[in-house]
Amino acid sequence: MEYHKDLIIIGAGPSGLMAAATSSKLGLTSYLIEKKSKIDTYKRSCCSMILTEPGMHGEYLAFENDRICFLKNDFSVKYTGAYTDLWQSIRISPSGNTLRLGRKAFPVAKVINKAQLLRNLLDEIDESLVEILTSTVAGNLEEEDDGVIVSVVEKGRRFKLRAKLCLVCDGVNSHIVDILGLNRNRKHFFTSKVVSYVLDKTKIPYPNSWITFMGRSASPTGAIYMLPKPIGEDGKILYEISQGLPLIGEKNYSAKALLDNFIENSHFSEWFEDAEIIDVHGTTHIMRSPIRKPFLKRTIFVGDSAAFMEVDNQGALMCGFNAAKAAQKELEGEKGFDEYYQFWNTHFEFNDESLLSPIIKGFGFSAFSDDEIDYLFSLTQDTLYSGYVNHFTVGRVILNIFLEKLPQIEKEKPEIAKKLKSFVEKINS
Ligand SMILES: Cc1cc2nc3c(=O)[nH]c(=O)nc-3n(C[C@H](O)[C@H](O)[C@H](O)COP(=O)(O)OP(=O)(O)OC[C@H]3O[C@@H](n4cnc5c(N)ncnc54)[C@H](O)[C@@H]3O)c2cc1C
Repeated sequence: MEYHKDLIIIGAGPSGLMAAATSSKLGLTSYLIEKKSKIDTYKRSCCSMILTEPGMHGEYLAFENDRICFLKNDFSVKYTGAYTDLWQSIRISPSGNTLRLGRKAFPVAKVINKAQLLRNLLDEIDESLVEILTSTVAGNLEEEDDGVIVSVVEKGRRFKLRAKLCLVCDGVNSHIVDILGLNRNRKHFFTSKVVSYVLDKTKIPYPNSWITFMGRSASPTGAIYMLPKPIGEDGKILYEISQGLPLIGEKNYSAKALLDNFIENSHFSEWFEDAEIIDVHGTTHIMRSPIRKPFLKRTIFVGDSAAFMEVDNQGALMCGFNAAKAAQKELEGEKGFDEYYQFWNTHFEFNDESLLSPIIKGFGFSAFSDDEIDYLFSLTQDTLYSGYVNHFTVGRVILNIFLEKLPQIEKEKPEIAKKLKSFVEKINS
């Protein structure tokens, strides 16, 4: 069988674009298949925070002269867009009390213009080596002894592409992972609906903050979160507010209806009374356990396609970079995929059971009523606690803040103290 190119890369999000750019720099030829018509746009919800915590995803970042530098993996990515620095992560109770985590010397996150990042990545691709097919959906993948065949549909036209290896970069709800049967051994935790509005003319009293509105009145099973983004004209800051709604329990809530209700009728409605909706994003997000060994004989699963929840944009760039290097080694007869396996398992927190387990069964405010959250946050609202934006550790950080106040809570609200102690038992079990 004659294979047309070295690689087929399915999906042109951050991981696929990074893989295409890196592989073209290594001299490999590829097809890059993307179902969107324009690569440097996105409609899928994404807060676009670059998380700056040292060691996050096993990496250390620096921001230099229009480049985001990955110090441990030793590469950098061009980013010419604006940043909005976030100095704290604030959780707000239904009546407005706060729990604030942050740092004083460096922002806890830097929000980027994701469309600009995608544009910069696209510009790095050598189009003499990478054939880009937009409005094209990969429907099937077959592995052969010495290559892969990917069946695609481009505006109703069906055809097959052949290459020596395939990099599957099609995101968290990966169709290719599913049809190859790799979801069969993954645990399905839950599925979330997300709806996001990009807003202008808001009046937000907490600038430079990642804000999460807690309590069942905001979201019966999840949370509403918002943050400033440098995505208006000339880097103007707009706010993005999202309802993240895990589909748990019997009731069929509408994420959009809940978000509309929050904006119009909550304690915080004044913040939005002049707001204009500029754009709408959304997604369905399936939470499964990660694929620990993310490759077959000639196929490697890159970025969110193999992840629990998400690798984040920064992780997707790391995955794309390492997957392209792995592919080059495989083509040279070396064990490149094994090296990727090492990278995957040593960088991402969800591949460490001791970090994944607490996020699944650990501390969460859904166990508390709105009144209880109001009470708890009345104890914390005057303090900035040390902490980052980190889904894997934040539950433990917050639980510890309240455990330090346990004697007072036991005296004033014994039923809340009991719930806090039950989390400790659950985590230690
Ligand atoms: C609500 C929400 C908030 C988030 N907030 C942040 C944040 O603050 N910071 C952060 O870093 N990350 C955040 N993320 C995660 C981040 O968006 C992802 O981790 C990142 O985009 C993963 O990149 P990827 O390239 O692996 O996948 P994706 O970005 O999902 O890219 C996959 C690409 O493949 C294409 N595709 C899919 N199927 C096919 C197919 N069959 N054929 C052809 N093309 C296909 C898609 O159109 C898409 O372009 C958030 C995600 C969500 C849902």
